[in-house]
Amino acid sequence: MINIVSCLLPLFEFDRATEGLLGESQRLAKALGGSHVVVIAGHAEDSKVSAVAEYADRLIVAEHSDLTSYQPELCLSVLRSVCASLQPHAILLGSDTYSQELTPRLAHRLGGCSAGDIQSLAVVQDSIHATRPAYGGKAVAVLDMKTSPAVVWVRDRSMEVAVAGEPAKIERLQVEAENINTTKIVDRRSEESSGQRLEDASIIVSGGRGLDGPDSFEDLRQLAVTMGAEVGASRAACDSGWITHSHQVGQTGKKVAPQLYLAVAISGASQHMMGVSDAKIIAAINTDPDAPIFKHCQFGIVEDYKQIIGPLQEKLASSLS
Ligand SMILES: Cc1cc2nc3c(=O)[nH]c(=O)nc-3n(C[C@H](O)[C@H](O)[C@H](O)COP(=O)(O)OP(=O)(O)OC[C@H]3O[C@@H](n4cnc5c(N)ncnc54)[C@H](O)[C@@H]3O)c2cc1C
Repeated sequence: MINIVSCLLPLFEFDRATEGLLGESQRLAKALGGSHVVVIAGHAEDSKVSAVAEYADRLIVAEHSDLTSYQPELCLSVLRSVCASLQPHAILLGSDTYSQELTPRLAHRLGGCSAGDIQSLAVVQDSIHATRPAYGGKAVAVLDMKTSPAVVWVRDRSMEVAVAGEPAKIERLQVEAENINTTKIVDRRSEESSGQRLEDASIIVSGGRGLDGPDSFEDLRQLAVTMGAEVGASRAACDSGWITHSHQVGQTGKKVAPQLYLAVAISGASQHMMGVSDAKIIAAINTDPDAPIFKHCQFGIVEDYKQIIGPLQEKLASSLS
C-alpha cells in the first residue's frame, strides 16, 4: 500500500496553511494511486479532528499522556513510531518552526531524505520530485527525493487547498513512545497580537533599515491601520530592535502572500524577497533609484518615505471614511 502522510502537531490550527498541506498530500496520494493518511501527534480539539477527517483516507490520532502541547523529542518519537508502521513514500509537515525543526530529524530516524520550503511535489518516473525557490526566488530548484520516505515541510499558502470528501474513520492510538527530554520547554510566552497573522494578511506594509528607528514604525502602523494592513519588517529593522522578529519577512522570517506588499525603505535583498515571492503586487518607497527592490515591484516611488507616509495616510483616511 502506498501511503502519503500529513503530520499535524499538538494543538494545530485548521487554517489555510493546514488546508494547503492536506491538499498537496491528497494530490500526491492520488498521483501515486495510494492513500492519504493524516497523523495528528498529541492533543487536538475534537472539532478540528473532525474537520481534518474530511480530507483523509485514514486519520490516526497518536495520543500520549505527556503530549498535551508540543515537546520536541516526544513529538518526534511519536511520529517516528506511527510513520515507521505506515512505511510511507512521503511525509509532509507544515511550515511552522516546530515542523521545520522536526522534518530533518524525522527523515533521519526513518532513513529517508528531507527538504524544506517545498512549493509542490510531483511523481516523475516513480520518483518524488519536490520544487522549492532558489536564489531568492529567481529560480526554482527541482529536487529528486531519492530515498524513501521523502520528508518535507511545505511553504505556507503556496499549495491548493484540499478537496473534502467522505470523512475518514478516526483511529485513536495510545503510542508507547520513549520520552527522552534532552530539550525541556521551561516557559511559553505568547506575544500579544491584535491583528491577523502576517501569513494570512492580504495587505502588508513593511519597513526596513532606511526608517529612522522605532518611532517610524509607529507611522507605518498608522498607515497600516488605515489600509487594513499588517506590519512587516526586514531583518535589518528587526535586528536593530525597532520591531520584534515575529514581523520579519524573508528567508529566515515569514513567507507571505498578500495581494499588496508595500516595502518602505527596504533595499530588496534576495533574502528578503524570498519571503514575498508569492505577493500579487509589490510596491516600494525608496530614496535610491537603483535599489534592487525596484526590479521586483510593479509600482515604485523614489522619495524619502517621510514625504510619502503621512500624506498617503491622510489621503487614504479621508477617501476611505
Ligand atoms: C542567511 C541570511 C538570511 C537572511 N534572512 C533575511 C530575512 O529573512 N529577511 C530579511 O529582510 N533579510 C534577511 N537577511 C538580510 C539581508 O541580506 C539584508 O541585509 C536585509 O534584508 C537588509 O534590510 P533592509 O533592506 O531593511 O536594509 P538595507 O539593505 O540597509 O536597505 C535600506 C534601504 O532603505 C533605503 N532608504 C534609506 N533612507 C530612506 C528614506 N529616508 N526613505 C526611503 N528609503 C530610504 C535605502 O536606499 C536602502 O535601499 C538575511 C541574510 C542572510 C545572510
